[in-house]
Amino acid sequence: VRDDLAGRLLNFSRQARIQIPMNTRQFYIDGAWVNPLAGTELDVINPSNETVCATISLGGEADTQAAVEAARRAFDSWSESSKSQRLELMNRILEVYVSRSGEIAEAISQEMGAPVDMAASSQVGTGSYHIKAFIRALEAFEFERELRPNTPNDRILYQPIGVCGLITPWNWPMNQIALKVMPALASGCTMVLKPSELSPLSAMVFADILHEAGVPAGVFNLLNGDGAGVGTALSGHRDVAMISFTGSSRAGIAISKNAADGLKRVSLELGGKGANIVFADAAAEAVRDGVARCFNNTGQSCNAPTRMLVERSRYDEAVAQAKEQADNTAVDLAEKHGSHIGPLVSQMQYDKVQALIERGISDDGARLVAGGLGKPEGLETGYFVRPTVFADCNNDMAIMREEIFGPVLSMMPFDTEEEAIAIANDTDYGLTNYVQTGDAARANRLARRLRSGMVDMNGQARSSGAPFGGFKHSGNGREGGVWGLEEFLEVKAVGGWSSEIPEDSH
Ligand code: NAD
Repeated sequence: VRDDLAGRLLNFSRQARIQIPMNTRQFYIDGAWVNPLAGTELDVINPSNETVCATISLGGEADTQAAVEAARRAFDSWSESSKSQRLELMNRILEVYVSRSGEIAEAISQEMGAPVDMAASSQVGTGSYHIKAFIRALEAFEFERELRPNTPNDRILYQPIGVCGLITPWNWPMNQIALKVMPALASGCTMVLKPSELSPLSAMVFADILHEAGVPAGVFNLLNGDGAGVGTALSGHRDVAMISFTGSSRAGIAISKNAADGLKRVSLELGGKGANIVFADAAAEAVRDGVARCFNNTGQSCNAPTRMLVERSRYDEAVAQAKEQADNTAVDLAEKHGSHIGPLVSQMQYDKVQALIERGISDDGARLVAGGLGKPEGLETGYFVRPTVFADCNNDMAIMREEIFGPVLSMMPFDTEEEAIAIANDTDYGLTNYVQTGDAARANRLARRLRSGMVDMNGQARSSGAPFGGFKHSGNGREGGVWGLEEFLEVKAVGGWSSEIPEDSH
């Protein structure tokens, strides 16, 4: 069924359709591309030109059952694989991923509108970054340890939890897929991936990469579908031991409730409303960097610094800088080369962002200094928005409280460090906060007091292998590195372990 010719012809029959080496209407189950059992279809729309770039099938309960069964069968042998077997496979996946990264970039650009150069660098790069990081994490991980030094009869065993349901969003598709699939593989779990129905194509190419790399049949399965269909069937399935989910808080809550009856482990990575606290002694480029980060990926990042809090003595200058930068941020088609930002992912996302900009102007009464409602000139087709900056905001405003997921920055002045911390922490979310200051002692104080899973200071990114995740409504899981691996493992305590028996390679 793989490389099905009819499928290829179907996909290539319209010029606008993406050329990927599989029938996009099929699912990858038990090591092969197979026809769906349910009959619904969905067009994947290229958000840059609103044309159909592919048609996928939306799976249902029967498809979910088939995929989970395949994963359950494969678990018996894969959970017994050795660390070196898994490392060998992951290194092979990295090789194939790198050799096919052009296909992934093309798929991401068409399905969610990332400009081609950004898709080829950041979007694809996050995938290889996580594959490498999990290879390193697995190399260092000890699956069998003594409880404490010199307790030879007490063993702690780390064992794969079982069949995992992986549910991902569309905004950084390969980032989120790699952050779930790689630790699941590394820990000896088997899995069913349900990517976002808005960005299914890069996930299908990724499935083909895993196939080419030699992932054993049933270990990895891919089903397309929506939240109400496959998402619900997977999170409620009795043979699924864990759901790893990235997406909106709304869906995270629904999944947790649905998974509760089966007492599944649920790991959630949800939204954010990051504060970027700019003190008067911050570096000259702090404001420009902050605006660029906020607009990156057209503002569609859960860790975007969307609330810029600026110490009052530097506030007016910062607002002027942000305005200038927003006015100069190029917006253009995803298929064009360059460093511009592309469209939003969908008409729905476009409408949501417009409604929040409208609220900022009318209900909130914030001062609009750049951008605003409507599309940039010359981009009437496609889900393009104008890079927007609001000033003089306060924490009661919707634009300061709600995750907008578009290129919209909200700015507000503060007078004291205490006040800045209070404003930053006054949110339901707690994913990433940012601090810009020349005072190292103050930076460290804020790192401790900000209620978020991550704090990035003075433009410095966290290193590879650091945990990614949030406090409060931003979720309860941690992805990346050793923390990401442990999410997929059960811990077993053994008393009476005999240290006379030679170690095997677990
Ligand atoms: P979404 O919640 O609508 O969809 C995410 C995924 O969940 C999709 O695959 C969707 O089909 C599925 N889904 C939706 N409802 C479901 C249900 N009831 N049961 C099971 N599955 C369901 O989110 P989205 O619009 O695709 O993504 C944007 C959101 O993701 C934003 O809120 C963003 O902040 C968040 N996000 C968080 C992180 C993080 O790591 N914290 C990273 C990226 C995006």
